[in-house]
Amino acid sequence: MNIITNFLDKNKYSRPGTKRSKTTKIAWHYVGNARSSAIANRNYFNNAPKHKTSASSHYIIGLNGEIIYCVPEGEIAYTTNSANSYSIGIEMCHPDSSGKFNTLTYNAAVELGVDLARRYKLNPLTDFIRHYDVTKKCCPKYWVDNKNAWEKFKKDVNSKLKGNTTQGSSTTRFKNGDYTGKKARVTADVLNVRYDRGTNYKVIAKLKKGDIVKLNYCLNEWISIEGYKGNKGLGYVHTDYLEIM
Ligand SMILES: [Zn+2]
Repeated sequence: MNIITNFLDKNKYSRPGTKRSKTTKIAWHYVGNARSSAIANRNYFNNAPKHKTSASSHYIIGLNGEIIYCVPEGEIAYTTNSANSYSIGIEMCHPDSSGKFNTLTYNAAVELGVDLARRYKLNPLTDFIRHYDVTKKCCPKYWVDNKNAWEKFKKDVNSKLKGNTTQGSSTTRFKNGDYTGKKARVTADVLNVRYDRGTNYKVIAKLKKGDIVKLNYCLNEWISIEGYKGNKGLGYVHTDYLEIM
């Protein structure tokens, strides 16, 4: 999952800084502006004080599957009207006016949905909602016009969630948290070590299959490793290509 943290500046229109006390729903949206990019939507939210429109979301998923994290989960975003206090809001970009999501955007939404459902202990089948379910607004348009596609999305997240948490699964999943003192072995033929968490950061070294790395801290499937000169004096690799020793 390629999450780019790029928080909005605090302002009363799109990031008031109000704390939220609970998360019981994940609310899904479409941006409505066909072909617009995730960063363009993020910047529109950030410019809210200029156009005086109260709008924002916690995440925006772009046309290339990139995910911009723009309001901290613990704060209110102005996404889903009366549901804002208890939901995390996600906007999704789309290539045309039908509002149908492309495969990259859809797959990223499934991954983000799995991650949020796991962390907040939610059931995708009952705890994922559309903007439409709160206000009857036609959003996300394709999932309002095609209820089966909405049901399929929830089922796709649910089956991936269950698949990833099955006991005795062959790979040990990395969880967010401290791994100092632990080591892992590289399972990919070649593994890029990057300057920070994400494929958008530059490659600062390459590892090969069987190499051993000293672990540091895992966040959203990216783990820092010791002995590199990236951000904070560490290197960063994706956990899909490591096995804990
Ligand atoms: Zn919406």
